[in-house]
Amino acid sequence: MTDRRKIIDGKALSEKIRGALKVKASAYESANKRKAGLAVILVGEDPASQIYVRNKIKACEEVGIRSFAHYLPKEAKKEDIIGLVETLNADKSVDGLLVQLPLPDKNDENEILKHVSPLKDVDGFHAVNAGNLLLGNACLAACTPSGVIELIKSTGAEISGKHAVVIGRSNIVGKPVAMLLLQENATVTICHSKTENLKEITKTADILVAAVGKKEFVTADMVKDGAIVIDVGMNRDDGKLYGDVKFDEVSEKASFITPVPGGVGPMTITMLLSNTIKAAERGSN
Ligand code: NAP
Repeated sequence: MTDRRKIIDGKALSEKIRGALKVKASAYESANKRKAGLAVILVGEDPASQIYVRNKIKACEEVGIRSFAHYLPKEAKKEDIIGLVETLNADKSVDGLLVQLPLPDKNDENEILKHVSPLKDVDGFHAVNAGNLLLGNACLAACTPSGVIELIKSTGAEISGKHAVVIGRSNIVGKPVAMLLLQENATVTICHSKTENLKEITKTADILVAAVGKKEFVTADMVKDGAIVIDVGMNRDDGKLYGDVKFDEVSEKASFITPVPGGVGPMTITMLLSNTIKAAERGSN
């Protein structure tokens, strides 16, 4: 039985941060005579995306952010989606703007995302924000990676000087997590599918972030005693959600560990709300 004190409760942390965001949203509204606004574009009817968008809109309402949901049919042309993005870029009541991924035509994603104003890019996917993150400049950082850092910090453990190993190098999770850990002065190793002797590397991690997308990929023999283990994975199998970490055995060795569900997942939308307030406060219009 896992010691409950080891488990990093992403839901509780998320609620705490949302409480603080509510205060900021209200202060923004008083000062600007309007609420901060988040626009979401959903193309098509992917059931998971519909749920994500619904949850984002509900979360906005809860903290006092105005939401604008735009639904386009799955046949919508790339030019029409870009047209809507440009309209929302110019809309002064919109501070944050995101296009829900995946799009029905994945080939269009890169080009459409290029059109989102970097000042409103609350997902942090635009090359300008990704580049500024790399350079260590102020930016809107990707939400899931930002949530990972908050979860690690919530343990009270020092990040500076520690060896952080990230398994995964995607543009939306692995690379930005690694850059954020570097900003926190961790010594960072990024692993991927071509990494040799993966286990030898992960066993040296003080902080291990798993963003692989493979059910229970990280086993106890890959983890150092006392490591902090953050599980980004969301893998569905037979209607059940599994992380990238074999929780039962890894939690015996870790000093802190995130569960799935209830760890990284709840933080992603919270960091989206945080980015929206940040974009509004910085002035994205
Ligand atoms: P992705 O784009 O598929 O990237 C997976 C990464 O894992 C790749 O870099 C891949 O290496 C690496 N990898 C695959 N097999 C490996 C192996 N055997 N050894 C070492 N590395 C290996 O996935 P993603 O978008 O980053 O997402 C990762 C997971 O996080 C997924 O389960 C996803 O559902 C979840 N996720 C959760 C949230 C959340 O809010 N909780 C948000 C986003 C993603 P290569 O680059 O060499 O192929």
